[in-house]
Amino acid sequence: MGYRLIHNDCFVVEREEYEPGEPVRARFPWIATDTSYEFFIDAANVRQEYVNGEMVFLFIMPGHDVNMSYTSRNTMMRDPRPIHPEALGNGDPLWVCETCGTKNEGKYCYECGSARPEPKKTKHDRRISSR
Ligand SMILES: [Zn+2]
Repeated sequence: MGYRLIHNDCFVVEREEYEPGEPVRARFPWIATDTSYEFFIDAANVRQEYVNGEMVFLFIMPGHDVNMSYTSRNTMMRDPRPIHPEALGNGDPLWVCETCGTKNEGKYCYECGSARPEPKKTKHDRRISSR
């Protein structure tokens, strides 16, 4: 009867249960370079190695269940979007039709049916196709 590795899906282990004294190898493949991680593994003498873009943990299974967890802090991805009060909430901000000058809320002008001009979006997924 072994002891269990208690972890969330972020750790990849070969088995969930180990006998005390067995070597355990756990991997954490989700390392992002702009994020700093702190790992907590409830075992003695955990060796932590960075191999091929993964963090690898090697330790000897102790005589108890081992909790494995981590915290991450993204060092770059602080949300840079400024907060516009009008952009919060569900309603679209008002826009002025370029064709007839009517103030509108929806996607199309009430008056003439023109589509709302595209606001300058900070869309990340916009593809830059061939110019
Ligand atoms: Zn219009």
